[in-house]
Amino acid sequence: MKALIINSGSSSIKFQLLEMEGEHVLASGLVERIGEEAGKISCLMRPGSSAQSTIEKVTKITDHQHGMVMAGEVLCDEQEGVVRSRQEIGVIGHRVVHGGEAFHQPTIIDDTVVAAIERNIPLAPLHNPANLDGIRVARQLFPGIAQVAVFDTAFHQTIPKRAHIYALPYELYERHRVRRYGFHGTSHKFVAGECAALMGKRLSETNLISIHLGNGCSMSAVEQGRSVDTSLGMTPLEGLVMGTRSGDVDPAIHLFLQRTAGMDLVQIDAMLNKDSGLKGICGLNDMRDIHDAAGKGDELASLALEVQTYRNKKYIGAYMAVLGRVDALVFTAGIGENDPIVREKSVAGLEHLGIELDVEKNLQRFKQPASLHTAESRVQIWVIPTNEELAIARESISVVEDAKYLKDARQ
Ligand code: AMP
Repeated sequence: MKALIINSGSSSIKFQLLEMEGEHVLASGLVERIGEEAGKISCLMRPGSSAQSTIEKVTKITDHQHGMVMAGEVLCDEQEGVVRSRQEIGVIGHRVVHGGEAFHQPTIIDDTVVAAIERNIPLAPLHNPANLDGIRVARQLFPGIAQVAVFDTAFHQTIPKRAHIYALPYELYERHRVRRYGFHGTSHKFVAGECAALMGKRLSETNLISIHLGNGCSMSAVEQGRSVDTSLGMTPLEGLVMGTRSGDVDPAIHLFLQRTAGMDLVQIDAMLNKDSGLKGICGLNDMRDIHDAAGKGDELASLALEVQTYRNKKYIGAYMAVLGRVDALVFTAGIGENDPIVREKSVAGLEHLGIELDVEKNLQRFKQPASLHTAESRVQIWVIPTNEELAIARESISVVEDAKYLKDARQ
């Protein structure tokens, strides 16, 4: 079966077509600058194969509808195309950022689901409307093909109240649903499943700490395969130090800045999301640039690295306490998969908790999952490349197959 995965943003649409038999990518594309004069669609066809090629067009792309039509044309292109007709696509999976409390799992999209995603717009005003644009257009263009919404928040819906309720007036939760939701759920769930399989264990018997370190960063405590705590909160700002996002700060800083620096709340919010984190400390948000600068003696770049890895270590300790028994730590995403220095600093000195990194192995470059712990380490340490598109494709197919099974069983 072929699965089309769509990640629709406010001015872009990422898409990937996967052949699920053998789980390989047929095409991977991006529609960008939707609505601008010089829009662009680019698509890598048959990546990694001897027939690999790229299609690229620069033209005005008026709206999401136009962008999606172009994506469909590229996939069916007479010369370079990977399918002869849209009907070859068996399922379409949509990445949706916020499912609020309504969605605990991937869900087949119908009008009720669209309305529920719409109701969650106040929780993700930048992301959910763009995700909905993609869903509406795809439903029009691909009628009759099952479409599934896979939510970034769904995996964390198992987090118990003691970990998802903030110590604020409870009424804020009751009236406005102010609580921890968590994000990166598709990635945490994917690497948790892969890690359990690599350790030869059932996921339902595995406790682990999943450490997603990319431009956005989050950590998740996974107990018997279920998320029981995570560092991102009601919005994707809380927790670890990220590329441009602050992570945890004293909430009273808002008022202090208002009074002493004359900043209003909109400015403070923009600062915390766009000008903080690694960038806030040293002016750079890409970890590769930070290492280069630190190597040349830039003290603030070194400090940014220290602040981020110290926070990582603090959260690992906290989640060790939450879980009691931990089978593995899993590093994933751009930094987690590629940066031995960040990994080493994040676990340095945790030998007393049974975490022992093999520093030589840690220095290798990995394209595939790899273990990094010493033979004596009580807790295993893994690098597992995340693959959100594959995770969405797998989940979408599984939901559609379950629904078919239930329908057949009823007949
Ligand atoms: P992601 O959000 O998962 O795509 O991760 C993006 C981030 O990963 C970039 O901003 C870099 O900071 C980081 N990154 C990517 N490649 C490397 C690398 N080879 N070494 C260190 N950091 C990297």
